[in-house]
Amino acid sequence: MAKSNLEQDILKVLVTEEELTKRVNELGEELFDKFADKNPIFVGVLKGCFIFMADLVRATQIKSELEFIGLSSYNSGTSSSGVVEITRDLQKDITDRHVIVVEDILDSGNTLSFLKKLLEAKGAASVTIVTLLDKPARREKAITADYAGFVVPDEFVVGYGLDYDQQYRNVPYIGVLKPEVYTK
Ligand code: 5GP
Ligand code: MG
Repeated sequence: MAKSNLEQDILKVLVTEEELTKRVNELGEELFDKFADKNPIFVGVLKGCFIFMADLVRATQIKSELEFIGLSSYNSGTSSSGVVEITRDLQKDITDRHVIVVEDILDSGNTLSFLKKLLEAKGAASVTIVTLLDKPARREKAITADYAGFVVPDEFVVGYGLDYDQQYRNVPYIGVLKPEVYTK
């Protein structure tokens, strides 16, 4: 293992690097089977998707395109308000295209239910949601992922793209932070 001054802040590992690799490869094969002849567009939700997206598209060896969208959901304290804002829109027309949404984590569901409606309104032929992590405990919107890598408990997780205060995205596994990190 390389040197790290991040690991000292991690309380426990929830999903290891090996488990991530295995599961992402499985998801890639499932997507291949469904989309091989559909020339889909992967739409990654910034920034949390960036590592998952990079691994997932390489695990899905099909003719396809990539797009990114920036979304932010206004927060009141620790809970999502349900109001989602587009901070960076798609650069490409998705009319009649099969869209594969790539998200880091499905939590309240506010972000993905907004995004799904947006993509449908933009004329997508189909919208398929792939989330690395699913945290069903705090769901507010009736939305389910078509593909989910791992179901996680109601804990704040970081790593493999997911941040706390823009840090820890480069932790190579999914972990839970020590409580004192939040109270610093
Ligand atoms: P939702 O709109 O489903 O409540 O939230 C989705 C977004 O909230 C995710 O894309 C992610 O940015 C953030 N989020 C929710 N739970 C966690 C978590 O446990 N850890 C991190 N780092 N972000 C989270
Ligand atoms: Mg996100």
